[in-house]
Amino acid sequence: MKYILSLDQGTTSSRAILFDEAGRIAGIAQREFEQIYPETGWVEHDPYGILTSQLSSAVEVLGKAGARPRDILGLGITNQRETTLVWDRETGKPVYNAIVWQDRRTAPLCRKLADEGAEEAVRRKTGLLLDPYFSGTKITWILDNVAGARARAEQGKLAFGTVDSWLIWNLTSSRRHVTDRTNASRTLLYNIVEDRWDAELLKLLRIPENMMPEVVWSSEKIGPVTTTLGLGAVEIAGIAGDQQSALFGQLCTQPGEAKNTYGTGCFLLENIGTQCRLSNERLITTLACSSHRRLEYALEGSVFIGGAVVQWLRDNMKFITSAPEVEALAMSVNSSNGVVFVPAFTGLGAPHWDPYARGMIIGLERGTGMGHIARAAIESIAFQVADVLGAMDRDTGRPLTALRVDGGAAANDFLMQFQADLLGVPVERPAVLETTALGAAYLAGLATGFWPDVETIAGKREAGTVFTPQADREEMKQRQTRWRDAVERAKGWNRREK
Ligand code: ADP
Repeated sequence: MKYILSLDQGTTSSRAILFDEAGRIAGIAQREFEQIYPETGWVEHDPYGILTSQLSSAVEVLGKAGARPRDILGLGITNQRETTLVWDRETGKPVYNAIVWQDRRTAPLCRKLADEGAEEAVRRKTGLLLDPYFSGTKITWILDNVAGARARAEQGKLAFGTVDSWLIWNLTSSRRHVTDRTNASRTLLYNIVEDRWDAELLKLLRIPENMMPEVVWSSEKIGPVTTTLGLGAVEIAGIAGDQQSALFGQLCTQPGEAKNTYGTGCFLLENIGTQCRLSNERLITTLACSSHRRLEYALEGSVFIGGAVVQWLRDNMKFITSAPEVEALAMSVNSSNGVVFVPAFTGLGAPHWDPYARGMIIGLERGTGMGHIARAAIESIAFQVADVLGAMDRDTGRPLTALRVDGGAAANDFLMQFQADLLGVPVERPAVLETTALGAAYLAGLATGFWPDVETIAGKREAGTVFTPQADREEMKQRQTRWRDAVERAKGWNRREK
């Protein structure tokens, strides 16, 4: 058997998955690593924790599947996006921990830049918003706060990279300092229209251009692994940020095709083709993977609390002892009986962007029980996704005709059916739910000739499950109105009164 090895470097764990020629999983290994919280709102990872967990899971999966290095015909890498590393080119040592995408320490810098009127240029050039989420201000923070870092950066001695760059730098014994376009498009520094690092933005954030990695296509041969790890000299040939990788793994390669990932949060991405378009609905525009080596764009909207509302029911409320139990609890009642749950635990993301909103459960009565609240919690995931999708449809002027889904909470049939009912379009769940890792495998397999083209891949895919809309449209519209009413009531709750 021959395989493609996919490394999925996530926020809480590193996974390695072997895929066979039919795109089926032949083996999985996974290692968790430490989350570091030095101060409130700060989140860091030890760069070597990322590296060793990823490399050991890669070696482990070969052993598990009984595969030899020469059976691996390509390596794909997908990663937690925006997480920022800076290291010394000479020694390869990081000058600071990785600052994770969730980290909010650069909020004051973002606010300052927005007050100075920088947001419009940032948006026009990068498709993004001025938010601590993205890498750029994290690099600035490191240069301003690590002793000697700025001077060394100006002398060309430091390298910046997102997690993909860090892994490849190490896998190639520092021969390649690269990132792909999907990761570059999350830095606040890459001009997604002109396809280059943007000198004006680098200047705005006071970052020397010599720190930046070479930008490559997501499906392109980068070079062999040269570390003596037991992986052999496998060719690195696929790179993509996790959400774009999932979009590709779902084969959303044509304009108008979209996927939603139901993980901790929800990430909805729609392929919008080769024309860059900015959102009027406060979504972001980002680069998608292209097997044709051309610029392709996606619109993206994120919901902060998706599956995490189920974790909250489990860990904080103790309604259930494991996440999958929520389905039976929600189905123990016929309806939420008027209860609406707005899980704005950390504010609201797209399309509302209200950092002051807080969670709310409304419509409680004497007869309200755990089942109603659990049902309302599950429904809230679908309502939020429908709000983002509505914004996307208004932006593109071309309503989606189907939604492809993945992520841990997509295993919940009740949620999927409710999502289809609410959207009024079919919800398609693939047989292989590991679409993030699969996307990077496809990219690597296409670049190395393991698969000849996307059509061949599509032809080999196993059929998944399709949830078709069944509910009364009028009733669903009323429920959506009621949900929006609740959202309005939750907005601004934490705003400090002057
Ligand atoms: P991430 O990649 O963000 O860690 P996953 O894709 O692994 O997330 O999905 C895990 C999330 O899915 C958790 O928040 C969990 O509560 C939720 N989840 C898992 N199984 C179910 C289920 N059957 N129903 C609803 N939510 C679920």
